[in-house]
Amino acid sequence: MNIDTQAVQTGLEWDTRTGALSIPIYQSATFRHPGLGQSTGFDYSRSGNPTRLALEQGIARMDGGSRGFAFSSGMAAITSLLLLFQEGDHLVVTEDLYGGTCRLFDRIFTRFGLSFSYVDTTDREEVLAAITPSTKALFVETLTNPLLKFADIPALSTICHERGLLLIADNTFLTPYLLRPLERGADITVYSATKYLSGHNDTVAGLAVVRDPQLAEQVYFHQNSAGAVLGPQDSWLVIRGMKTLGVRLDRQQENALKIARWLQRHPQVTRVHYPGLEEHPDHDLIRRHARGFGAMIAFEVESHSLVEQLLLRTQLISFAESLGGVETLMTFPEGQTHADIPPELRARLGINDVLLRLSVGIENVDDLIDDLNQAFNKRETTV
Ligand SMILES: *Cc1c(COP(=O)(O)O)cnc(C)c1O
Repeated sequence: MNIDTQAVQTGLEWDTRTGALSIPIYQSATFRHPGLGQSTGFDYSRSGNPTRLALEQGIARMDGGSRGFAFSSGMAAITSLLLLFQEGDHLVVTEDLYGGTCRLFDRIFTRFGLSFSYVDTTDREEVLAAITPSTKALFVETLTNPLLKFADIPALSTICHERGLLLIADNTFLTPYLLRPLERGADITVYSATKYLSGHNDTVAGLAVVRDPQLAEQVYFHQNSAGAVLGPQDSWLVIRGMKTLGVRLDRQQENALKIARWLQRHPQVTRVHYPGLEEHPDHDLIRRHARGFGAMIAFEVESHSLVEQLLLRTQLISFAESLGGVETLMTFPEGQTHADIPPELRARLGINDVLLRLSVGIENVDDLIDDLNQAFNKRETTV
């Protein structure tokens, strides 16, 4: 079955007693035991809840893994995965990383004796050079944020599996609709389901999927022990959002390519990063491995004053953090999403004071382009 069909199937016909097509929101903390030493399969909602389980089974199927896990946020999912490691362990990490993940690793997990090396994971030699005898895992983003570099999962998985390292892939920007890292050798995928999977900017959620059943047992142990689980209401919202993942992304990608081409031609735009453009360095690699290029664009404008002008004067496009929803959002990575990345690293990555990031939504693309156009055109004096 294709993944867009699988997405629609999530949670269907769970309730055979009433025949409810949409899974009920099982807003219950606890479940009555049928007898001593017996269970309905549900005992207490931290350990398992039917609405959450439907979501966990749905994402596991879509991602081709043995088991899925739903957490209260993307960061809670990543935190729970990091609990697999112990004092002294070292991880090699994509340098062009989501700011919140970088903050979690450097300011919290280093206090518990983990260490991290940040490298350009598109460069095999850099990855190999960073591996030490204490390295236990490689943590990558499949498409990075905000500069949209692609991780070659098959090549990285060869490196990992020859050395017994886990390969953990944050696949938030591509989703299983565009790339299924577990099929290409990753061990664990992790998602901020806040973004494309739920898709409506209405809930915060995280998901993880594990390939190997024994490793999945360990992840379950940590999910249940640390307890950062997703509630039933939010699980239902993610299921509802996920059903339209395929149609949303098809439209978002089509819009993104048109906007990227329009930006390329604009005289006040100096640089456009969008992997769907042939000149993007990872265009061919992504074409070979993934089903699409996603709908995130980063672009540089000719001056910092233009950054402010665009953020404040676009009307349809909201100046807001986050991404992946049906609404088009624009943000300023240096001051917002990547403020927690050390300034030297930001400079090396090309995150500067003229870089903007667009998360392209499903609106009519002509309206989006008109909105950008009027925001570029307005002069200070006309306010
Ligand atoms: C947003 C995001 C996260 C964090 O997820 P939350 O749901 O905000 O906790 C992690 N990784 C990436 C790539 C993200 O974009």
